[in-house]
Amino acid sequence: MSTAARIDHLSRPAATLDPQDWDELRAQGHRMLDDMIDYVAGIRDRPVWQPMSEATRGRFRSELPRAPTDLADVYRDFNEFVVPHATGNVHPGFMGWVHGGGTVVGMLAEMLAAGLNANLGGRDHAPIEIERQVVDWTRQLFGFPPGASGLFVTGTSMANLMAVLVARRAALGAAVRQQGLGEPGRRLRAYTSTAAHGCIAKALDIAGLGSDALGCIRTDAAHRIDISALRTAIAQDRNAGLHPFLVVASAGTVDIGAIDDLAAVAEFCRGEGLWFHVDGAFGALAMLSAELAPKLAGIEQADSIALDFHKWGQVPYDAGFLLVRDGERHRETFASPAAYLRRETRGLAAGAEWPCDLGPDLSRGFRALKTWFTLRTFGGDALGTMIANSCALARELEALVLAESELELLAPVNLNIVCFRYRADDADLINREIVADIHESGIAAPSTTTLDGRLAIRAAIVNHRTQRADIARLVAAVLSFGRQRAAGLTPLLQIESPPLAL
Ligand SMILES: *Cc1c(COP(=O)(O)O)cnc(C)c1O
Repeated sequence: MSTAARIDHLSRPAATLDPQDWDELRAQGHRMLDDMIDYVAGIRDRPVWQPMSEATRGRFRSELPRAPTDLADVYRDFNEFVVPHATGNVHPGFMGWVHGGGTVVGMLAEMLAAGLNANLGGRDHAPIEIERQVVDWTRQLFGFPPGASGLFVTGTSMANLMAVLVARRAALGAAVRQQGLGEPGRRLRAYTSTAAHGCIAKALDIAGLGSDALGCIRTDAAHRIDISALRTAIAQDRNAGLHPFLVVASAGTVDIGAIDDLAAVAEFCRGEGLWFHVDGAFGALAMLSAELAPKLAGIEQADSIALDFHKWGQVPYDAGFLLVRDGERHRETFASPAAYLRRETRGLAAGAEWPCDLGPDLSRGFRALKTWFTLRTFGGDALGTMIANSCALARELEALVLAESELELLAPVNLNIVCFRYRADDADLINREIVADIHESGIAAPSTTTLDGRLAIRAAIVNHRTQRADIARLVAAVLSFGRQRAAGLTPLLQIESPPLAL
């Protein structure tokens, strides 16, 4: 190639992934934004959930695309085949598991975050300051000291795992990071209640301690950890030469929303020299409500708290969070030097400390932005009121269940979760069918759990859109499907959901 030809070649723009026609892209983007706002605004007109046909499922099976497809065509597929078959947790009738409802504010913030495409592993830029701000707000909410540290993660499962690792490092010292658990590590024992979330046992497993290192302590009638049983188990383990190091209390159990006596657990852990971690996945944010906060008394004494902004906080998925009282303990668990991650005192490589020193992830998205937007635009008080409203609705549902002779309440209502069922012979089977019938009808989406060996319909009121009419609709559906199932009939299910726009 001649020099002239080479220069000509270099001056031609290379193919980027940016659009050829920005105006066309802008118009398409605005359509997508409008459709999604309409979707949320009109969510009540849709079924909560509807099953996928085999034909729809088939739309998701193809060869890796090698050639380009028009954005408008890809969007049409999303619209036709994905939107009608989403989980349904945006809908006020969704009461299954513990799912947040999301907000349009959070959605818009997520779009802005994707535009900036920030990597929050470290370095000196404003997105890191946003995360630090949310960490500090969370620290204030739980009354933690200024030396506390915090970090956005995927969810509470990850935050609980990280808390186990911080407690493990605190118990075994620096050697565990180079030498692994060794003999001292094999003697570590952690404790939680039988009502704790399954991710606690999984965390012990992943941390190399094994799930057998978790003592599951019985609960009292209110589903709270029995402190005297905890004391006995720990004394026995110490006598057997084991090394108790961690107690995980629940602030909102997944089954019924029970809150352990956190002040009593705190005092016990202090006396025994144990790490006191709180799994507050959904319940911890009840601190935003002046009415509910007293139920969490003692949480301010925790060594660490795991929580999800994506549940009661209504921040779009995912936005889990870990808060650690002693930031130094947190840092010494995860920080590790690397030449290519050298910190400077000026330039983009400045800005210590870097969030990658506080967790397993190096590259990290901008989860903090949607949380910052949510906390700022609504304010903590309105979020607290919304959380208290969920609990008021749960009490209304409890009252409806108690007033209905065909229904039976299966657990006390502490917060926002109501466990009940339709009375019938073979009630486990009938209630499992009732829940599937309700899902397929599109009317609501409760889930199930097992309490004292009995299958319960479980309604967790988490969505800020849920109202009294939605509660009444759930009860009416349980009664209607219950009567049909008890009579041996197969209910007729209808309802179909339109795509976003045609
Ligand atoms: C949801 C939940 C978890 C798990 O949190 P993820 O965000 O789903 O990982 C853990 N504990 C409790 C009590 C929960 O409700």
